[in-house]
Amino acid sequence: MPDYMYLLESRLSPEQRALLLRVQELARAQESNIYLTGGAVRDLLCGMPLRDLDFTVEGNPGRMVRELEKGGARIVVDDERLRHYELIFAGDVDGSISAARDEFYARPGAKPEMRWSTVMEDLRRRDFSINAVAISLNPNSRGLLLDPTNGLADLERREVRALSIHAFTNQPIRLMRALRFCARMDFKMEQRTQEWFDLAIERGLQETIEQHAVGQEVMDAAREENPAAVLKQFEEHDFLAAIHPKLQRRRPDYDGLVRLARAKEEFAAVGLKVRPVTGTLYYMLRKLEPRMASVMKNLDIPNAAIASVQHLPGEARKLLQLLRGSKTKGAREAYEVISHTPNELLVFMNAEFRNPRAASKIRNYLQKWRPLRLNLPVTELSNLGVPRGPKFDKVIEQLFDAQLRGKGRTPEDVTKLLKQFAGIKDEPKKSAKDEKKKRGKEKDSDAAKHKHIVKQSVENEGVHAVAAEGSAKTGVSAKSATLPARKHAPRTVARKRTKPSAKAKRRVRR
Ligand code: ATP
Ligand code: MG
Repeated sequence: MPDYMYLLESRLSPEQRALLLRVQELARAQESNIYLTGGAVRDLLCGMPLRDLDFTVEGNPGRMVRELEKGGARIVVDDERLRHYELIFAGDVDGSISAARDEFYARPGAKPEMRWSTVMEDLRRRDFSINAVAISLNPNSRGLLLDPTNGLADLERREVRALSIHAFTNQPIRLMRALRFCARMDFKMEQRTQEWFDLAIERGLQETIEQHAVGQEVMDAAREENPAAVLKQFEEHDFLAAIHPKLQRRRPDYDGLVRLARAKEEFAAVGLKVRPVTGTLYYMLRKLEPRMASVMKNLDIPNAAIASVQHLPGEARKLLQLLRGSKTKGAREAYEVISHTPNELLVFMNAEFRNPRAASKIRNYLQKWRPLRLNLPVTELSNLGVPRGPKFDKVIEQLFDAQLRGKGRTPEDVTKLLKQFAGIKDEPKKSAKDEKKKRGKEKDSDAAKHKHIVKQSVENEGVHAVAAEGSAKTGVSAKSATLPARKHAPRTVARKRTKPSAKAKRRVRR
């Protein structure tokens, strides 16, 4: 039985790992079984980055959600009817917790009836085999992969396979989901799924997708790593019309999306992952202006997201003016502005305006200033004896200022500057003449000590006695006094303590 737990834990961020532990604890406390399900397991199996963690509980997850809220989780969607909660967990981890449920359709396309179920039944009612997978997080089967529809084989074949002939009729939104997964993972549709898909399009099922479901799909597409690829799939199959009839003809601003992707890469190159969802929505829908906001409203897109899209160009222009102007001429001033601006806005501003002066400040921030900030010599300042506190912080800030001005780039210069800012004076250097004199004096006192030790050792017949006495007189510790005594032990004493060798014994016998 392969254990997917090790694989899973090795791929999670520390925050995601903490969440995994917490939900297991809570599930055990309420004696419910809990599973990691769907996308996270699929992405784990095919080596893609894990985005959000969706958990399924056999039972009611309401109490667990309230406990998680106490620990800092925020509820984004709270669907009591389906017992489905989308959350931003502590540590900014995205995900959801839902009760396991099964769905029954009286006839294809009818509203489904719902019943609480086991996780296996829950997996079988899902959209595609690659999404119908789970990993058990329960004590007796922890790490076990549940794959009732053989999704693993489809992942290997790189195919999206729907789980029922009625998959698209029952939920036409799955047409868009299938296209999105194909674009994202560079998969094709399994042959029969493709036939069901084509039949659904022939029957015009795409026109029956509910607006709020399209809105959800628009948000999901905006969160994609490569949204342009998804939108091109939508365009090819006339699905942009499901977003708005005019979008199919006017098309999304693909150039803007390409620029956005490039601007994002500059951040990714220094390890900063930016998901410019608002910018993507803007380029996706800007050609619908001046009706962009009302189109989004019709799609049930959350008000906060609509407001962000509306304000984005204005905010970017303000930022551009600031970064182009004299107020950010100095590196420190530019650093302050950039470090306090959300990365998403920086990325969008670069994509939208491509202003060389603003862009070069952002490049300096990413490639020079931020690394300096992350590597400030805090430990070194502590080692210099400066206690933590306001003075400590001030010295560090002064050093950062100096570094932004091009100073303090070598370790020696950093030490020098830290001492200067902290007011630590170097001990005055001794002249070569003084050093020579000091060495001469040390030699004399060693010789005198040696003489004294030899005399005493002869009298007392023992090296240790010599040491002890030497220390009492000179104030040198017994240990350090012993060492020169041993080193310079007179032959007479040494011979006394040495056993006769075998050769010597033989000589005596002869
Ligand atoms: P992503 O990486 O985009 O989040 P995901 O697979 O997690 O991908 P979600 O939209 O978060 O997709 O949905 C979570 C899971 O719920 C899916 O993996 C799938 O199993 C199931 N699911 C979502 N939408 C449907 C649907 N319309 N019909 C059936 N199952 C669905
Ligand atoms: Mg998901």
